[in-house]
Amino acid sequence: MTAEEMKKKWGEMSEEMISGMTEWRGLHPKATFGEIEEELDERMGEMRARMLSDAAMNSRKKKWGEEEQPKCKKCGTEIQKRGEKKRKLQTWGGKEVELEREYGVCPKCGESFFPSG
Ligand SMILES: [Zn+2]
Repeated sequence: MTAEEMKKKWGEMSEEMISGMTEWRGLHPKATFGEIEEELDERMGEMRARMLSDAAMNSRKKKWGEEEQPKCKKCGTEIQKRGEKKRKLQTWGGKEVELEREYGVCPKCGESFFPSG
């Protein structure tokens, strides 16, 4: 995703979030401060998770082995690349973010790693 595409996507996402929130407010004219806050947190948390995921995917410029061969954190053996795998990360507010990450396995101890984080 280019920066421009990301900007466009996030722009649409925030508009969606805002219109969803105003719509919700219209449907809940008697909502308390706490209820509004809860609803807002939920919607913003959702957006936050999606932005985080997009931004993290976008930062993956380094390809496997471009810098140095990733090594096993346990025994120091060079990790063998196995391909891409979805990695689930927990973020603020209990949201889950799924990232496609290159991963590898240590031939010695069988541990798998995501060197790109
Ligand atoms: Zn190892």
